[in-house]
Amino acid sequence: MSRSVEYPVLIIGGGMVGLYTAALLAEAGIACCVVERKAYPTLDLSELILESRVCALNWATLSRLKRLGAWEHIQAHAGMFRRLCVWHYKKKKPLLFDCADIAYPALGANVPNRVTVEALRRVCEASPLVTILTDYEPTRLIDNSDHVVCVFSNGESVSAELLVGADGLHSWVREQAGIATSIKPYSMNALVSLVQTQRPHQETGWQVFHREGPLALLPLAQAHTCAVVWSQSPEEAKRRCELSEQERQQELQEAFGDRLGPITGSKQAVAIPLSYHHVNQYVSKRVVLVGDSAHRIHPLAGQGVNLGCRDAECLVSELTGLHRRRAPLSSSTPLQRYARTRRVDNQLMLRSMDALLAYYAWQRKAPMASSLLHKATTLMPPIHALCMRYAMGIWGATLLERESHAI
Ligand SMILES: Cc1cc2nc3c(=O)[nH]c(=O)nc-3n(C[C@H](O)[C@H](O)[C@H](O)COP(=O)(O)OP(=O)(O)OC[C@H]3O[C@@H](n4cnc5c(N)ncnc54)[C@H](O)[C@@H]3O)c2cc1C
Repeated sequence: MSRSVEYPVLIIGGGMVGLYTAALLAEAGIACCVVERKAYPTLDLSELILESRVCALNWATLSRLKRLGAWEHIQAHAGMFRRLCVWHYKKKKPLLFDCADIAYPALGANVPNRVTVEALRRVCEASPLVTILTDYEPTRLIDNSDHVVCVFSNGESVSAELLVGADGLHSWVREQAGIATSIKPYSMNALVSLVQTQRPHQETGWQVFHREGPLALLPLAQAHTCAVVWSQSPEEAKRRCELSEQERQQELQEAFGDRLGPITGSKQAVAIPLSYHHVNQYVSKRVVLVGDSAHRIHPLAGQGVNLGCRDAECLVSELTGLHRRRAPLSSSTPLQRYARTRRVDNQLMLRSMDALLAYYAWQRKAPMASSLLHKATTLMPPIHALCMRYAMGIWGATLLERESHAI
């Protein structure tokens, strides 16, 4: 039997950003419905979860996950990272970023994606203001004068004042709303895997820039286990995925060097195509986009989901104002303000990542000039600190905020 339900906000996509948006809305007292096309797998968080699909969550995201009550589910599975060590494969001397330099307890934490989703799902399910529908496939959007109706393949429908597209890179919502996006394939894949290292990772993220792209070893919750994110051509990624575990680990060792001693393992290897995209519009009538449905970035600085969470915070802050004034949630001015604010911030990060990739490619062609730039970043503490604060999502945080968010 078909049924139709009405909510103030409908979120399509129950990944990290969709659920994060729902949790923030519930915190603000705004009811919403999250629709996810897949069923969530059962995840037993009492056992340590170590996986190759992880995201580095920056300090600002961690602080908000803590406030929302998600951190208590995540903490045991999180690999805190306090330092970042970055170098070029031809140079021995690395660039070091240490949270102690700016008096923070950590830069962030690497968390398996499934754990973040599960933690946020638990927070949402505990709230009477959030309804989660799984195994629902949206098929049609109807834009009425005062609400939007989403029809699903099972015949049911949900109507809402505002529809949030949080359905990732190949967003159905974006397509339905007729929002165009500029896609630039990087002609690179990220080969992700899980490895053991003889020396402990020392809560440090390790990243070496190679001719073919960056290779990162990200510290996980066990002192000798790291997640690997290795950018390379799609052909090489495919070839390496097909190697035996031992052959792959040998190639990885050669590319990474011996900073952490012998590397063993290289399990759960998967190749993921990388691309850049940024939508031309974040908002169209009653539809608004957040997270990867609006932008996709190279994972070299681990910022994708952090930007998505910032989208959610900015959007919910605008909606909270409207909710308090009992104004329609699809009011144009606040939504346009959201679009402007997020475009500027996301554009800056997208461009910075492109510049960083170009910089390391340029190092091969102009080693003298790049060496001067490297020295400037190392020797000028304000630039160094600024880079860290930017990546941690804490540009303007005060000492008071820092202490109130201590993890
Ligand atoms: C190799 C790699 C490493 C990365 N590392 C980092 C990192 O260290 N730090 C970081 O911040 N970011 C990182 N990222 C980026 C990060 O993974 C993404 O930014 C993040 O997953 C985006 O979350 P999202 O919720 O917007 O989209 P997604 O994670 O794609 O979630 C979208 C959800 O919507 C659902 N969905 C899709 N279509 C529909 C539909 N039609 N109806 C209903 N549901 C639908 C999907 O099933 C999914 O659950 C990395 C990315 C890659 C590829």
